[in-house]
Amino acid sequence: MLKLYNTSTRKIEVFKPLSAPKVTIYTCGPTVYSSPHLGNFAAYIYWDLLLRVLKANGYAPKRILNLTDVGHLTSDGDTGEDKLEKGAKREGKTVWQIADTYIAEFKQGYKELKLLEPSAWARATDYIAESQALVDALTKRGFTYETADGIYFDTAKFPAYANFARLDLQNLKAGARVDYSKEKHHVSDFAVWKFIKPGENHAMHWDYLGRSGYPGWHLECSSIIHTLLGEPIDIHTGGVDHIPVHHTNEIAQTFGAFGSNLANFWLHCNFIRIDGEKISKSLGNIITLSDIKNRSFSPADFKLWLYQGHYRSERNFTWDDLAAAKARRLKWQNAIAMCYQTPQKPAKENFKQTLLTCLNEDLSSASAFALIDEHLNSLSLDDWQYVENIFALSLFPTDITPQVLPLINARNAARQTKDYQTADHIRDKLAAQNLTLLDTSEGTFWQLKD
Ligand code: AMP
Ligand code: ZN
Repeated sequence: MLKLYNTSTRKIEVFKPLSAPKVTIYTCGPTVYSSPHLGNFAAYIYWDLLLRVLKANGYAPKRILNLTDVGHLTSDGDTGEDKLEKGAKREGKTVWQIADTYIAEFKQGYKELKLLEPSAWARATDYIAESQALVDALTKRGFTYETADGIYFDTAKFPAYANFARLDLQNLKAGARVDYSKEKHHVSDFAVWKFIKPGENHAMHWDYLGRSGYPGWHLECSSIIHTLLGEPIDIHTGGVDHIPVHHTNEIAQTFGAFGSNLANFWLHCNFIRIDGEKISKSLGNIITLSDIKNRSFSPADFKLWLYQGHYRSERNFTWDDLAAAKARRLKWQNAIAMCYQTPQKPAKENFKQTLLTCLNEDLSSASAFALIDEHLNSLSLDDWQYVENIFALSLFPTDITPQVLPLINARNAARQTKDYQTADHIRDKLAAQNLTLLDTSEGTFWQLKD
């Protein structure tokens, strides 16, 4: 029985999809205007665990991940520059080149982290007609008004607007920054479509209502969900930063256009800090997957580090902790190597079920890890395969293992007959394949050289 913390009710609830075994999931994806950092990837690593746990429970997830390549301004409050335009200026490229470059970089990292491919990647600019149709529907149902710079959602028309994020609209108004559009009726109103002003240089633009413009950032998620999944979906995921503005606005739009609830379960992951600081360009503490690899860590080490905590808790990243996570992963790899010496070892009774029970408690990966450590030397290859299926930590170099075992056995036999020349020859042969042999009191096993 899978239990998840639902942001919308602020409670841990038993998860029930609308039509099991199918589970529809939507994940807010990255804005593709610069290199993704560890914080950006953290969310997709957490949601990968969610997908794998759903599968282990017998569900069949259908999951969409979007790529924001237009409309996300530097401020969430409809002001500032479009992030893609900003990236284009910074690098002297077109906005389309910027989007292509960072989509490719994001997908490359995604693959290196061994995250499950979504059922579909949805690029915001591929859903412009659907997004315009959504604005039409909002207008028809009386949820919008027009100002000099765009079409706005009138939040006063949706009385439940503040409920999801428990917003205090009065204080929001008092605390609002001076730069919000003076033509907005309420501080919480938001742009669903922005007009391009005469003289304004906005490379991505589409005709709508006889004028040139581009979609508001929140619009894409409601229109992609409507087009590819249909509301209400079972689970919507994102970062905690999405709760007060982006997700609140998605909910409002979907209700306004289609009269429907957007999602039954809302899951939000927390932020990671670096050495106790917020990740930011100005602090110069942005770490990417390349930085990790340059220091001889693998993307899987970062995953293991992340899963040592919980998706709803803020995490503090340090290189020392990453080294400790790497050591833990090596220990697990070695335990698997030992299993290959006794491949017939029976599965540990109830291990898989107990592991899943830990994870069914709101994805408690840390307690699942404690269980693995507790039974480290009694797990069978079958148990380890289950661990690998759930966490995808590259614990099994499966393409190498079948060739290595007979060689290790031949070398052990050679050593027993004191044929050290043959034994050394085999060791050298494996070294050429990037494998080191470790002779221990418990047997000989191998590990991949870093
Ligand atoms: P963006 O590409 O700017 O839209 O960011 C994508 C998402 O990455 C954000 O909305 C957050 O949910 C997530 N994110 C950004 N920084 C961090 C961080 N330091 N830790 C965890 N998640 C983050
Ligand atoms: Zn979204």
